[in-house]
Amino acid sequence: PYAMDGVKRKRTRRLCDVSEWDDRMDYFVKKKLHIWCRLRNGQWVSGQIQSTSGEKAMVLLSDDSVVTLPVGDVLPANPDVLEGVDDLMQLSYLNEPSVLHNLQHRYARDIIYSKAGPVLIAINPFKDIQLYGNEFVTAYRKKLLNDPHVYSIADTAYDRMMEDEISQSIIISGESGSGKTETAKIAMEYLAMLGGGSNGIEKEVLQTSYILEAFGNAKTSRNDNSSRFGKLIEMHFSATGRICGAKIQSCRAVQLVNGERSYHIFYQLCAGAPPTLRDKLKLKGASEYKYLNQSGCLVIHDVDDAEEFRKLLEALNTVRISERDQEHAFQMIASVLWLGNITFQVIDNSHVEVVQSEAVANAASLIGCNVNDLIVALSTCQIQAGKDKVAKSLTVEQATDRRDALAKFIYANLFDWIVDQMNRNLAMGKEQTGRSINILDIYGFESFKKNTFEQFLINYANERLQQHVNRHLLKLEQEEYELDGIEWSKVNFEDNQECLDLFEKKPIGLISLLNEESNSVKATGLTFACKLKQHIKSSPCFKSEKEEFCIRHYAGEVRYDATGFLEKNRDELHPDIIQLLSSSDSHLPEDKKFSIPSSDTRVPDFHKQSVSTKFKDNLFKLLQQLENTMPHFICCIKPTDKQLPGMFDKDLVIEQLRCCGVLEVVRISRSGYPTRLKHQEFTDRYDFLLPKDNACQDPLSMSIAILQQFGILSELYQVGYTKLYFRAGQIAALEDVRNQVL
Ligand code: ADP
Ligand code: MG
Repeated sequence: PYAMDGVKRKRTRRLCDVSEWDDRMDYFVKKKLHIWCRLRNGQWVSGQIQSTSGEKAMVLLSDDSVVTLPVGDVLPANPDVLEGVDDLMQLSYLNEPSVLHNLQHRYARDIIYSKAGPVLIAINPFKDIQLYGNEFVTAYRKKLLNDPHVYSIADTAYDRMMEDEISQSIIISGESGSGKTETAKIAMEYLAMLGGGSNGIEKEVLQTSYILEAFGNAKTSRNDNSSRFGKLIEMHFSATGRICGAKIQSCRAVQLVNGERSYHIFYQLCAGAPPTLRDKLKLKGASEYKYLNQSGCLVIHDVDDAEEFRKLLEALNTVRISERDQEHAFQMIASVLWLGNITFQVIDNSHVEVVQSEAVANAASLIGCNVNDLIVALSTCQIQAGKDKVAKSLTVEQATDRRDALAKFIYANLFDWIVDQMNRNLAMGKEQTGRSINILDIYGFESFKKNTFEQFLINYANERLQQHVNRHLLKLEQEEYELDGIEWSKVNFEDNQECLDLFEKKPIGLISLLNEESNSVKATGLTFACKLKQHIKSSPCFKSEKEEFCIRHYAGEVRYDATGFLEKNRDELHPDIIQLLSSSDSHLPEDKKFSIPSSDTRVPDFHKQSVSTKFKDNLFKLLQQLENTMPHFICCIKPTDKQLPGMFDKDLVIEQLRCCGVLEVVRISRSGYPTRLKHQEFTDRYDFLLPKDNACQDPLSMSIAILQQFGILSELYQVGYTKLYFRAGQIAALEDVRNQVL
């Protein structure tokens, strides 16, 4: 009822829809204004339209050549005065070539941060840039600088938390190698500087990143320091804004050997352990271990593993993990390495025996079990025959699987143990303040040549996260306008609900079918893929062929190889191994015992949670926690696949911008009304503007009276049923008047 027709028309004109561009093209021809045109090779270049005829445009390019193109391949460019603006919202013409040009213009000048309405875009510089450190922190804190920056996002989150006493979250998304983990660290550093106090806890919080990276990151083809786990770091603050505690939640899709190198810690330990520790762990060089030397990549360019190990020890000391506990951790790492070197010898009928070697002896002593018990557990299966148990020997394949499962279990157990230790030391006292900032850095979308169960989980997590981001930025905003009766031109955006349904629907979603097939003893990767093909017919996001299947993710299509999915999803620890571990750790102090799954055979299989189900539950818990916070978004962009500075691959960048829905976000934000106040709130604050004898009673009509009294231009606000909606900056103007009057 209160919608203002004129506002709507004005808004859509600024968006420059394609139909309006047709009308405006003549104006561009007459004024010789710059345009973008797409050449046959797909590249956008700058030019001027000389003339149009029907569906064709004659365009003069900068090299004085003239090309004839379909008018559909011509888009308006922005005036020079808008070159390199801070916020894409300021662009008069919002189209892909203009956005790319703007970002590239900035990136070439080492300005890696830009805004897209409420979202910070961070383009990975792949080199050190002079934008961080004390001086910058101070400048952002004192609001002397307000160029787009991670610091300014963290600063806003901190202020909102202190003023509104609502927990905040900083959600960092982007592909693998785009800079999420670095960005998370930069945000944490800023918050540590603001919230640092005498107890030094901020130093501990910062060092947790280093430890988590040593144990949870590995080199992949995409990123030399790729996080193989997702994390949510909660930083808690006191009433005076000092850091008083922290908590880490991790969400892993663990695999021992993946990508090019395994987890950094293995190489760091081998390269950097001091002589006494080496002796204790019977440690050799990394090249001596099968788990490490198979991939053909032992070192990372420009990284000194021995030096990294020294830094790791420092970090462990800082977070107060005792030397004995550190030694326990390294012992577990070494046991994993030695396990990998255990070999098997075929005796008869393709059955095996463990080869007696230093590997099996060292592994047993490091795990803390008897050598023979280990040998038996790795090579035989105890079968109940009447009243007795008989040992049946395993095949090479079964024995190798058991060995690898044991190694993987020890490593996973160690990772959780370390996170627990850090959480215990960083835990705040009893007092719960409700003031916290949560930083989410989850592994980015992955698409390799060969994609397996790990990528399946990681990409699923990214779909979920993307929906969270979409919902907040786009859906909620639109829904609120609609609910409140605001006249509003709807912006369409890609929804990924279809893909999420593909994963989550019961009983015929990917996860359900995977679990069902995992429960069948005879099933294989091939039967799983067939089952998918048979049941999932209608989803446009899905295709399958033999052992492979293809999912159309929001960030692109990924082909998965179903081989090994079932085993990885079951991730069973054989009862014989469980038996071995529970007898081995009796000498360990309580807090270092393995958290061993129940070997109780009375628990039916379908009650044991599969890896994918646990992963999903964990993910839901993380996102649920974020629901109750005020979100801030950072979208990291990888401008090149080469991990090198100075490169800007436009196709790669635009692909990522599309995935994050950046253009849609900008469209919504600038056509929207970022400031909102309930009528009651508004009238309580500004009713002094009304004459004493005003006749209005209800808050809505009072709001309207105040707005008229104050003379705010009608296109700068809209009146909803419950709230008032203002264009950016209007409240500041009202506040000025209030300050003068009161
Ligand atoms: P992601 O977590 O998204 O996979 P990372 O945060 O590990 O990516 O970043 C990959 C690499 O990019 C880093 O190891 C670092 O070399 C470089 N990098 C990322 N962000 C920055 C930055 N702000 N300044 C300098 N280098 C960066
Ligand atoms: Mg990372």
